[in-house]
Amino acid sequence: MSMTGRCLCSKVTFELSGDPIATVVCHCNHCQRQSGSAFSVNLIAHESQLNLTGELTTYEERGDAGDQVYVRRRFCNVCGSPIVSELALSNGIVAVKAGALDDSSVVSPSVEVWCVDKQGWVDLPGMAVSMERE
Ligand SMILES: [Zn+2]
Ligand SMILES: [Zn+2]
Repeated sequence: MSMTGRCLCSKVTFELSGDPIATVVCHCNHCQRQSGSAFSVNLIAHESQLNLTGELTTYEERGDAGDQVYVRRRFCNVCGSPIVSELALSNGIVAVKAGALDDSSVVSPSVEVWCVDKQGWVDLPGMAVSMERE
């Protein structure tokens, strides 16, 4: 299966080929801030499955010491839509933002992480695995 998606202004488009490894909801505070929403929905895949076109800006999240990059959050440099996060510490694994998909009917998350930061009103159905952190 192959999925396509784009940012709000359509300058960035992508194709994700093959099935994602998992579809994961992330409640972490950083995803809340970046998305302006209560959580992010992520298609976890190998970097090689993702084919991106268009210009992205990368924000590097570092640990408290500032020395190690642990997430690269990539977004359209025109409209700001989050497109993909690269998990620097898990080699070659990316998290494609499900909100950017052209057809969201295939999205069915069953794992949620960072429930420690979950907003109080959120109670998602269909979660097989709920983790306090990652
Ligand atoms: Zn855009
Ligand atoms: Zn997160």
